[in-house]
Amino acid sequence: MKKKKVIVIGAGFSGISAATALADRGYEVQVLEKNAEPGGRARVFREGGFVFDMGPSWYWMPDIFETYFGKFGKKPSDYYELKRLDPSYSVILSDSEVIDVPAELEGIKALFESYEVGASEQLDKFLHQAAYKYRVGIQDFVWRPSVKITEFLSLKLLVDAIRMDVFSSFYKHIRKFFKSGTILKLMEFPILFLGAISQNTPAMYSLMNFAEITMGTWYPMGGMHQIVNGMVALAEEKQVKFTYNSEVTGFEIVNKHVRAVKTAKGLIEADMVVASADYHWVEQLLGDDFRNYTEEYWDKRVMAPSSLLFYLGISKRLPKLKHHNLFFDRDFSVHSHEIYTDPAWPSDPLFYASAPSVTDPSVAPEGCENLFLLIPVAPNLEDTEAHREKYFLQLMDRLEAYCGENIRDFIVYKRSYAHQDFMSDYHAFKGNAYGLANTLFQTAILKPSLKNKKLDNLYYTGQLTVPGPGVPPSLISGLVVANEVDKSLRK
Ligand SMILES: Cc1cc2nc3c(=O)[nH]c(=O)nc-3n(C[C@H](O)[C@H](O)[C@H](O)COP(=O)(O)OP(=O)(O)OC[C@H]3O[C@@H](n4cnc5c(N)ncnc54)[C@H](O)[C@@H]3O)c2cc1C
Repeated sequence: MKKKKVIVIGAGFSGISAATALADRGYEVQVLEKNAEPGGRARVFREGGFVFDMGPSWYWMPDIFETYFGKFGKKPSDYYELKRLDPSYSVILSDSEVIDVPAELEGIKALFESYEVGASEQLDKFLHQAAYKYRVGIQDFVWRPSVKITEFLSLKLLVDAIRMDVFSSFYKHIRKFFKSGTILKLMEFPILFLGAISQNTPAMYSLMNFAEITMGTWYPMGGMHQIVNGMVALAEEKQVKFTYNSEVTGFEIVNKHVRAVKTAKGLIEADMVVASADYHWVEQLLGDDFRNYTEEYWDKRVMAPSSLLFYLGISKRLPKLKHHNLFFDRDFSVHSHEIYTDPAWPSDPLFYASAPSVTDPSVAPEGCENLFLLIPVAPNLEDTEAHREKYFLQLMDRLEAYCGENIRDFIVYKRSYAHQDFMSDYHAFKGNAYGLANTLFQTAILKPSLKNKKLDNLYYTGQLTVPGPGVPPSLISGLVVANEVDKSLRK
């Protein structure tokens, strides 16, 4: 019997995940990717002996990667070698106050106790509650497709939702355990990954702290793109066909059914389409008759921040830097106001510096440092070369002051990346980097649906739908949509 054909639009984590799961169930799967290589926001580029991961740099929740590869009888170690970082990361509070966050729990407890008497015991209590949230959140909530409200109408789930602290804020929750401003800063950091400030983030996301503290911060040797390479290799083992430089530009729709997708090379027919490209962009391609949501709806979404990034090749080592360095030496309330409340280029930003060459000699020539700098910024800002250069100079001043040495004269490669690039490379709505913020009103059933409600064979996956942004959620999103597609094709 002829296999049913599924087209997946986009070869980011969610697209590769969906494609692999569907091929594993016997469908003929073709992935159409507009760029020349897979990975989406986690692509890689090489220049002068430097290997730059373009997006994600934090490998958290190793259990999700185990689950992902495990679904296909594999392990991450079949494809890449993981190294646990210790310290997990450094937090720079001022030029003279730097905290190296230890990998082991006992080390973290001792660190907390040094800032607040009794804080190590409080951490135990906090983690005990967070462990429950992780278990329910990661083993149950995130696997729900959230297409029907009935998925959430059970007494057990209601009780779980209350115990999960879905309805109170992380900001209030964490202050029940700790008073020290430094500890609060450390505990609120993982929440930044969710794309909203802690006042607007449900307390259930203390599951992020649980993951970070108890499971550790890891790094795939060779770079984060080794995850992508591993996933593509696995997909190809399952006979997924990847077609690069192949942008989908529209849909041929007959009787509320997508008959084919349009590309520059012509129409490609499909029984089912899974769109992992930015949701809003796919809606634009569908036009008013078939899109799920209006422009007004999209305009009202709370987006996670965009980023101003710099990829730098430095012709010497920078011994002061760790693998992950968080420059929290400025007032975050001002910076977050400029991201969320009154969007503007930040006046005096916090930033993040990653130097993977500290762990991995293969990502820089010998004696050199590979540096990735990131400033979280509001989406939809006017992005000009002048803006980028202004912040580049600010970051150089601060890095040089911290490292105690000249850096700018040793830059042998420099590339910046911001809103305009996110839009041209990924069709990112408002130049977003990480999709939608995980606020209460953008959780589960309240997120853009993974099913198109007007067409019988179009589904969405990726960071703008359930369960949300980040590498582990994108992997899960692909697996969840594959289940829904499979059910629909079997009807
Ligand atoms: C700078 C940065 C740092 C990050 N850091 C971390 C981190 O440390 N840890 C973490 O867990 N997460 C991190 N993230 C988030 C994580 O990278 C994303 O959530 C995840 O990669 C999103 O995957 P996706 O499949 O949803 O989307 P994407 O990666 O955007 O994939 C979508 C794909 O669709 C393609 N596409 C778009 N339009 C079309 C079209 N018309 N036709 C064909 N193809 C199309 C795009 O080219 C892209 O390849 C970071 C993201 C960024 C940008």
